[in-house]
Amino acid sequence: MNGSTHRCWAEIDLAALERNLGKIRAALPSHIRYVAVVKADAYGHGMPQTVARLMQSGADAFAVANVYEAAELREIGSGWPILVLGAVLPEEEAHLLHYDLVATVSTAEEVERLDKLGRKHKRPVRVHLKVDTGMGRLGIWHTEARPLFERIVAAKNIALEGVFTHFSSADSDPDYTLLQRRRFLQLLDKLPELADQRLLIHADNSAGLDTLAPDSPFNAVRVGLLQFGHAPYRGSLLDRIKPEPVLSFHARIGIVKELPSGVPISYSQTHKLRRRSQLAVLTAGYGDGIPTTASNRASVLIRGRRCPVLGRVTMDQTIVDVTDLPEAAPGDIATMIGAQAVTIEHQKDGETHERITVEEFAYWCDNIPWEIFCSITKRVPRQYK
Ligand code: PLP
Repeated sequence: MNGSTHRCWAEIDLAALERNLGKIRAALPSHIRYVAVVKADAYGHGMPQTVARLMQSGADAFAVANVYEAAELREIGSGWPILVLGAVLPEEEAHLLHYDLVATVSTAEEVERLDKLGRKHKRPVRVHLKVDTGMGRLGIWHTEARPLFERIVAAKNIALEGVFTHFSSADSDPDYTLLQRRRFLQLLDKLPELADQRLLIHADNSAGLDTLAPDSPFNAVRVGLLQFGHAPYRGSLLDRIKPEPVLSFHARIGIVKELPSGVPISYSQTHKLRRRSQLAVLTAGYGDGIPTTASNRASVLIRGRRCPVLGRVTMDQTIVDVTDLPEAAPGDIATMIGAQAVTIEHQKDGETHERITVEEFAYWCDNIPWEIFCSITKRVPRQYK
């Protein structure tokens, strides 16, 4: 932590991001291309700074949600392939050629449209074919994919550069992931043209990496959460990588006040004090990205100690119990996600730091780390180090 004087801020450790990328790459076979997934403003970490560091650190390509994110990314670097993972609306098509993007296609209608676009501009439109192996979102259903693949290969104004699928449950259901992987491999087996093409074949998100077989035809991975320092589940590869958290999220104590037992706290009186209490009112709320589901469930770190959230999180302020931390004072940093040094008198088992991980925070909020990151709002400055 660098002693920020903001009311609420997110600190982004770009060196940790770089180390994470290095560790992930080192754990993968060397021919595997690294597609860094940086949609939603790089999972809330901030697109330009994060992407610039990933470019310097050896990412081979990037994936974003839509052409607008892709246009922003293109401003940062010109040499990297940018895969647009979401559907491209008809009125957005022109961006594909203008910014030299790679579109995801999963329907014959999209293929016809993009073929026409390429013909009109006398330039092939770059695409990856997406195959639905059981996610039920974008992609052509795997048993019906072959004719669409052939149609794309035959299209004069489309350049097929990849084929991919997406796992729905790589962090929670290995059997289902294996089924999806098998379905995809069975399809690839039926596409002898693949051997002649220099296509990127990819399926794995962060959680998938653990079961990526080195001898498989997969030659790329799409990594999001793991590069930002969080493993979606504890598999062997993920444990070995030991990613470092990149983002921490802090606010300050606005005021400290004392209230008698029995006083209800915050909107709708969801908590009543059970003792005379010392409270700290923090300078952040759901308007900054602390979900209301953190109400009465989450804790924050102040002076290295965990202080429970009392009552409902409000738009700009959150109330925490500091009765057991009499030294808490206005201006103190309150850490929602991240680490703080523990003062000597509070050290237990030789621990010098106390940390709240995004996984723990997400658990309290009945949420997932991806959404917690994306929920940190625009009014929260990102500080890079
Ligand atoms: N690929 C696709 C199509 C995705 O939608 C995402 C994330 O949502 C990813 C890859 C990256 O997933 P993760 O953040 O779990 O690595």
